[in-house]
Amino acid sequence: MFKKVLIANRGEVAVRVIRACREIGIPTVAVYSDADADSLHVSLATEAYCIGPAESAKSYLNIPAIISTALISGADAIHPGYGFMSERADFADVCTQHGFAFIGPTAESIRRMGDKAQARETMKSKDIPITPGTDIITDIKAAKKMCRKIGYPVIVKATAGGGGKGMRIVEKEEDLEENIVFCKTEAQRFFGNPAVYIEKYLVNPRHIEVQILADKFGNVVYLGERDCSIQRRHQKLIEEAPSPAVNEKVREKLGKTAVKVAKAVKYEGVGTVEFLLDKNNDFYFMEMNTRLQVEHGISEMITNIDIVREQIRIAAGLPLSITQRDISIKGHAIECRINAEDPDRNFLPAAGTITGYIAPGGFGVRVDSHVYSGYKIPPYYDSMISKLMCWAPTREEARRRMYRALKEYVITGVKTTLPFYQDLIEDEVFTEGKFDTGFLEEYNKRKAEKNNLQ
Ligand code: ADP
Repeated sequence: MFKKVLIANRGEVAVRVIRACREIGIPTVAVYSDADADSLHVSLATEAYCIGPAESAKSYLNIPAIISTALISGADAIHPGYGFMSERADFADVCTQHGFAFIGPTAESIRRMGDKAQARETMKSKDIPITPGTDIITDIKAAKKMCRKIGYPVIVKATAGGGGKGMRIVEKEEDLEENIVFCKTEAQRFFGNPAVYIEKYLVNPRHIEVQILADKFGNVVYLGERDCSIQRRHQKLIEEAPSPAVNEKVREKLGKTAVKVAKAVKYEGVGTVEFLLDKNNDFYFMEMNTRLQVEHGISEMITNIDIVREQIRIAAGLPLSITQRDISIKGHAIECRINAEDPDRNFLPAAGTITGYIAPGGFGVRVDSHVYSGYKIPPYYDSMISKLMCWAPTREEARRRMYRALKEYVITGVKTTLPFYQDLIEDEVFTEGKFDTGFLEEYNKRKAEKNNLQ
């Protein structure tokens, strides 16, 4: 097992990894920016080093600073968390070149899956269903021709994209060129790579993803699916596991397909295979996230498997501690991502000091967070401040428990999305579980109509 793990990240994920290391008995090294000196991950880690100023480019994305801290502290492994360096193949390469184990997949897998167009090619060659689409767009005329063939609406996507950036839905041919140009510009700005391709846009599918674990000996297991269809601007707000729309037969098919995807790239580590599921229960590969995901906790709750612990064990060269037969799904779990944002002002990020903080608790409630009373939320990073997860034997009980926990949660001093979730969790369509990725738009419309009537 590793002697010391450096966590190249901040916030709740750094805390999550430190907790897993502590339970295994591995000392940890936190790195932090000037803006994060008072962050919980800094005080929880065995050692902590400041690696630069607030801007991510000069701290959490600063490879020389991270590697030299690993060398100085005597760490032998680096955990990238999610976001920041987690899907940077060059970082994985640099870690291994300097003799550190990268707690994640090989740089080669990150590369193959990080390029969405290339990942689609790989899947096509392995007979894994993908949405109809194009290769990288080089010529607008050819793109128009392809789109006519696949039929509108289509979605233009950056091959290096993520977090909903570099993506545009196009309803008709007249708008195609303009949107391609827009996505290319955004892709260049956010990912340093302007390449875009086009997919058929499925109208209101479900976003269903499968959590997989793969060791270095070719063993791959799946931990059931998560439904992440409640999204705002293609970004997840609520996730649940299992999906209310997936039956046993489809679950097995999804799981086996996800394992096939992982095997296609000789994947090692924890990963998530994302699919779009249509009304006929047909599903299509969308992408593979080659890292730990924000919403991994709800899969842990329904399977009783500590995903981060398995991830560290895999990177240390140990075989999976479970086989597919050991995995069964018990109950239902829901997660709300609590952000420091003002839901009444179009989710405007709200930095500032948390003056009061009381987290909910009780049976089946889990709060993963790095904040506390008196914590100053820096304006430089992601606005997520907490993940509230609730487990119960049935979906309805989990939903009611979530409502109870949301009502119990006190965060004062900054605006948060708590009131937004308190409303949403009581919504009749959400309660029935009959939603898709179009939910939020339709929900907002219904709310506006109600307000007009009052
Ligand atoms: P990112 O990597 O930026 O998160 P994804 O490719 O994972 O982007 O897509 C994010 C979301 O966008 C999906 O969960 C889904 O709601 C929507 N989406 C993406 N591709 C399609 C498609 N072909 N048809 C319909 N919706 C799509």
